[in-house]
Parts: sequence; C-alpha cells; structure tokens
Amino acid sequence: MRERAVSAKYTLFLHGRESPATWITNRAHGGVGRRVRLYFSELAMSHLMNTYSRQPVAFARGEGVWLWDEEGRQYLDAVAGVAVNGLGHAHPKLVQAICEQAKTLIHTSNLYRVTRQEQLADRLCAISGMDSVFLCNSGCEANEAMIKLARLYGHQKGIDNPAIIVMEKSFHGRTLATLSATGNRKVQAGFEPLVSGFVRVPYNDVPAIEQVAAHNQNVVAIMVEPVQGEGGVNTPEAEYLKQLRAICDRQGWLLMLDEVQTGIGRTGQWFGHQHTQAVPDVMALAKGLGSGVPVGACLAKGVAADVFKPGNHGSTFGGNPLACAAALATLDAIEQEGLLANVRETGAFIRDGLAEGLKGMAGVVQVRGQGLLIGVELDRPCGDLVARARDKGLLINVTVDNVVRLLPPLVMDRKEAQQLLDILVPLIREFLGA
Ligand code: PLP
Repeated sequence: MRERAVSAKYTLFLHGRESPATWITNRAHGGVGRRVRLYFSELAMSHLMNTYSRQPVAFARGEGVWLWDEEGRQYLDAVAGVAVNGLGHAHPKLVQAICEQAKTLIHTSNLYRVTRQEQLADRLCAISGMDSVFLCNSGCEANEAMIKLARLYGHQKGIDNPAIIVMEKSFHGRTLATLSATGNRKVQAGFEPLVSGFVRVPYNDVPAIEQVAAHNQNVVAIMVEPVQGEGGVNTPEAEYLKQLRAICDRQGWLLMLDEVQTGIGRTGQWFGHQHTQAVPDVMALAKGLGSGVPVGACLAKGVAADVFKPGNHGSTFGGNPLACAAALATLDAIEQEGLLANVRETGAFIRDGLAEGLKGMAGVVQVRGQGLLIGVELDRPCGDLVARARDKGLLINVTVDNVVRLLPPLVMDRKEAQQLLDILVPLIREFLGA
C-alpha cells in the first residue's frame, strides 16, 4: 500500500505536477485522512537502493556558494558536494564550456585519440610537475589505477606479492581494492574477503614505516593522503611527507598520494603536497577536478610514468571530451580568478574566526585544517549539528561522529565566510551548552 502511494506521488513529481515535498493524504501512514509529509528522499527511495542516509531536502538550483531547495529556501553551502563544486554552483565559465562541448562532441571512446584529453593531461602535468596521466571518472577509480600501477611496478622488479603501506583512518573509496586500502572497519565490514597486499600503519608515524621497511621485502609503495579528509581532517607533521619521500627514495618504493580530496586547490595550493617539498611518484585526483562533472585522474612521474602499457588498464568513459572540457574550464577559472590565494585567505579567516569564537569552550578539542578543508573536533558525537545548521540555512558535514567538516566552494568570499561564522559559532556554542 505504502509503495503504491509513494510511487504514484513520485510519478506526479516526475511529471512536474507536484512539489517534491507536499502534504498528502496517505492511508498507509496512520489511517484515513491522516496527512503525512513525504519528502523527495522517501519518494525516491521506493526504487533507489538503500545505500545513503539522505537528509530530507532536495535542491532545485544553485549559484556561487548558495543553494535553493525545492520550496525556495536558501542555504549557504559549506559542503560543496563533498569537496566537489570548487567553482561553486552554475559558474558561468564552467556552464559555457560544458554547453559548447556538448554541442560539439560528448564521447568517442579511448579507441581513438581524444584531443581534449591530451590538452587536459598537458595542463595537469604543467601544474603538478608529473609526466603522464590516466583519466577516469571518480576517486576510487583513480586510486584503483594507482594500486594497479604499484603492483605492476612490483612485478616488473621481480616481486611476486607486492604490498602497499596504507594508513589507519584513511579513506580511499568503496571498490573492493580501495575499501581494502581504507583504514576504517565500518567501510569494510561485510565485504570480506578483502583484497590482500596492504600493510597498515598509524598515520603520521614514520618509525612505524621504518619498522615495516626493516621486515617486509614485498613493499613497493606507500599510499597516503596529505590531509586525511574523511578520517577527521587529520593534518600530519609538516615534515611527514618529506620523510616518506626520503624513505621511498632509499627503498625504491613509490610515494603515492591520494589527493582526491586535497587536490585542485582545496588546501590553497593546486595539490596538498605542494605545501611541502615532497613530490609524489603517483597521485590520484577526482572530486574538484570537474567541479561537479565526474572526472578523475591518476598522474605518474619518472619511473612510474611508463609502467602501464596498452592493455594494462582502461575505462570506457574515462576522459571523454565533455568531462575534459569541464576539467579544463575548472583549472582555467581557478587560475584566472586567483582562487588558490582566495582559498588560503578565506580558509585562514574561517579557521581564525572559529578559533576565536570557540576559544576556551569546554568540549572543543581542536580547530584544524588547511585552506578550505577545515575541521572542528568536539569531545562528543555531533551529528545533530548537521540538521540544526540546515534549519538555519547552512550546510555542513560531520565526519567520524565528532568532527564538524567544512568544505566550501573555493570561490567563497570574505563576506560569505563571515555569514558562515555568524551561523556556525553560536550553533556550536549552544550545542556544547555554553
Ligand atoms: N579518496 C579520498 C581521499 C576521498 O576523500 C574519497 C571520497 O571521499 C575517495 C578517495 C573516493 O572518491 P569517489 O567517491 O569519487 O570514488
């Protein structure tokens, strides 16, 4: 009964005759005449697999750092599609590039040369100093390419069971290899047997890696995030990546950086590692690369650049002209609009504002982060803050239960950052009972 009512309603919504969240009479929910509010998420759930705990809101449009829901309510977006919409919503240059490309050529396949792909690879190598690029569609796919590249590199060196050092609290994706690399049991539980060949050590712990180096001859690479995003916005010691680089050089290992969340300007440099002197051998990108159009990349340098040969790896959609046009427009806009400097300044402004506004508050463990990847760790679970902020017109994220994570678009200006602080600081204070 419920399913029929839901489906009928969903059909009306799809045909544009109903708003997605309307009061309707639903006999299945409490008898004749009882009015029950069904949200879009519930309606859509009738045929969507139940993989997400969605919030009860659906957005109709966006502009810059702002979103409007189906009922016309406005929200300040400090999530940016989980670090994706770097240029904010409906950025004119991105929209124009996508429209022009769509009118010209969307997809041809990797059976042929793809000019836009070659342009994007040139551009990515110019800003990163890397030598070669494999294009794909998502972060886990970029990491899969990285993992396969490391294994092939190991085999080419005569190591039959190559192993990769990975970190506790890391997040690398949901495919079988990337969830096996991920340092979070919740992500892995129920999907055993996991993919073998990963050796786990604590994040920001160089001696632990030295121990593995002393005992394990199968290691071929270290895979690490410059800042752990999903794991709680964990920033390592300033020298960490440099020390890992030195170990990799000494051992003949590849330094492989998962920059899916930290890349494309998020931390105030093109890539998170550019705050350090460590240059990776391999790097994974996605999220902000297409500013909302799915595109990922695995970049390699030096010995790693020529490991793959034709037939070793591939992707049907990877790097199609539409995705590449979006990525090229994103990189152009970041450069032309000085967004890296904006991220550094606006990020520092928000972190300072949070530190000042929450100073001395019992319950605040730390304000941390880099650029516009910001975390506020509390001493208690704070998932409730997401709904409370949304009620006040602010979209935030909470990760690992007790870290408020902010990932606003790179275009956020000082005034909008102040609006964010004006809502969030009192909210956290009130939540902590000040
Ligand atoms: N790597 C990192 C560091 C991430 O933060 C994420 C997603 O949050 C991924 C990989 C997976 O990316 P995707 O969801 O595009 O597969």
